[in-house]
Amino acid sequence: MKLGVVGAGMVGSSAAFAAGLRGTAREIVLVDRNEALAVAQAEDISHAMPFASATIVRAGGYGDLAGASVVVIAAGVGQKPGESRLELLGRNAEVFRQVIGEILTVEPNAILLIASNPVDIMTDVATRLSKLPAGRVIGSGTILDTARFRSLLSRHLEITPHSVHAHVLGEHGDSEVLAWSGARVGALPLADFAAQVSAPITQAVRDQIDAGVRRAAYRIIDGKGATYFGIGAGLARIIAAIASDEKAIFTLSIVTDEVAGVGPVALSVPRVVGREGIISTIRPDLNTAELEALRASAELLKTTADAIGI
Ligand code: ADP
Repeated sequence: MKLGVVGAGMVGSSAAFAAGLRGTAREIVLVDRNEALAVAQAEDISHAMPFASATIVRAGGYGDLAGASVVVIAAGVGQKPGESRLELLGRNAEVFRQVIGEILTVEPNAILLIASNPVDIMTDVATRLSKLPAGRVIGSGTILDTARFRSLLSRHLEITPHSVHAHVLGEHGDSEVLAWSGARVGALPLADFAAQVSAPITQAVRDQIDAGVRRAAYRIIDGKGATYFGIGAGLARIIAAIASDEKAIFTLSIVTDEVAGVGPVALSVPRVVGREGIISTIRPDLNTAELEALRASAELLKTTADAIGI
């Protein structure tokens, strides 16, 4: 398959690097309004490929996205001094208007994979602008928060994260919901498994894991200015699921008619991913407090998305 990446900054280039290492794509094309950056990133990433795969990585213009089955959109502009969050969103919506117009003119059948933050809002914007079916405009959503949740649980329980089934739902951001009540490990409810391995989930453990997930981006940004390796690997995992029509379940953001009584709104719940994009959405089993938190997250996102006025 051919993969396009628009926005060759830290997130876009990390996604290209991770997808290249996995060998999912035959060819990866990087496009950026800063052409020199796209050329340099493509050259650097292409030098890693002989160690991993036969993927061809190059920079190009929008015309070079013809035939791409998936295009990652990681383009965006930073906040200006004194600019409000909504003004910034408006400027990024204009970037998306231009970028999506260019992509769809060349490749109307591409699945758009949205990585720019705030990802749920940008997924909503991209869906409205592209007029594509919701399942073909996929935001990375909480795929990374879910990975962080599983990773911290797995370390506490001393087992592999692959055997932990637990999800983070809602906004990729402060209002996200850790769905503790439905977490399962080795086909047992989390609490039962934790008791068997003598690693109970006390309130202190729970608080520590909750903060570990919720504050991760803040801690990383404090230390190194940006986060990109984790999300790059997450994006590559989604691309692999699309390329092989895998029908894997990930927590991803698409515009959804109704979630916890709110909608339409773009946020993350478990979704089945295959060649056509999102094939179906799973209704999570939540307790009353979690459902209320998901409703609050959905309302916050819907209000913000509607305020942009696209
Ligand atoms: P992140 O850390 O989210 O990747 P960056 O600032 O590193 O953020 O990357 C964003 C990239 O998006 C930059 O390389 C920038 O040049 C690119 N970009 C911004 N506007 C456009 C646009 N209209 N078309 C293509 N690329 C764009």
